[in-house]
Amino acid sequence: MNKNDRIADLLISQAMLKAVTRCLWSNPVAGRRMMSHHIPQNLSGKVAIVTASTDGIGLAAAEALGLRGAHVVVSSRRQTNVDKAVSLLQSKKIKVIGTTCNVGKAEDRDKLINMTIEQCGGVDILVSNAAVNPFFGNILDSTEEVWDKILGVNVKASFLLTKQVVPHMEKRGGGSVVIVSSVAGYQPMQGLGPYSVSKTALLGLTRALAPDLAHSNIRINCVAPGIIKTRFSAALWENKSVLEEFLKLTSIKRLGQPEEIGGVIAFLCSDEASYITGETITVTGGMNSRL
Ligand code: NAP
Repeated sequence: MNKNDRIADLLISQAMLKAVTRCLWSNPVAGRRMMSHHIPQNLSGKVAIVTASTDGIGLAAAEALGLRGAHVVVSSRRQTNVDKAVSLLQSKKIKVIGTTCNVGKAEDRDKLINMTIEQCGGVDILVSNAAVNPFFGNILDSTEEVWDKILGVNVKASFLLTKQVVPHMEKRGGGSVVIVSSVAGYQPMQGLGPYSVSKTALLGLTRALAPDLAHSNIRINCVAPGIIKTRFSAALWENKSVLEEFLKLTSIKRLGQPEEIGGVIAFLCSDEASYITGETITVTGGMNSRL
């Protein structure tokens, strides 16, 4: 090795050392959340319907969309929950209205859409987030009633709501739909067979709708969260040893927070995602997810 090669080698290793030090300095804990205080107003003028948005992931999605300037419409089954969510979002200077809507009921879906059109003048964004799981146990013990309920709320209502907003989005020149699935859609969770199957169906629904909606300049995407700390997933994290087992499946050894899903949903609804459709983004802290 001549003198010039040795100098070049030294410079390269110094540069590498610097880069590694800089990386460790700025990111001491893998997956640590860096909250930015500057949120771009890239959704101002947009109207966003988010179902099941009075708690957990739906509420975080409504907040993320609202903080980016969207006029948000929150809803869930209980009026007291709706009232609470509306005042919470208002306290954060978000433009928001709310109504009760059990997505499994046709008259409630109509009420939600009609109220949005009347009070907000149109709709640009739909986040279909509602899901139920009335059954835990061996899949062979699940009844027809269980399947009707789970597929009705989790899958059929997502399709019917999407179908219902399409003509309104067309009037605005396009729009964006985001469906909330789950990592359980990739790998059925033990005891949650029918629920997991409903979440797999949503991955299919997203892909099936994408080509047709593209004709109307509407993008449709899906988010598959891992284990996020909400009331819905309490059975997975309240017990320390159950939680430890689940965390073994992740790379980032902690539960996700609802805001970490809300931000991804807002991204998918923004123009920054203008070439993404028919896609599912897994947000799981590194859990294995493939069909
Ligand atoms: P959550 O914190 O328990 O909130 C559930 C929300 O849904 C509440 O606002 C509830 O309000 C509303 N709701 C329940 N049934 C409804 C219905 N039939 N129609 C309309 N609203 C309804 O739940 P979450 O964890 O955020 O779950 C939201 C979505 O994320 C679900 O699709 C779930 O499958 C998915 N997900 C969650 C996790 C997780 O680890 N948490 C992981 C993967 C996927 P009311 O009681 O007032 O109706």
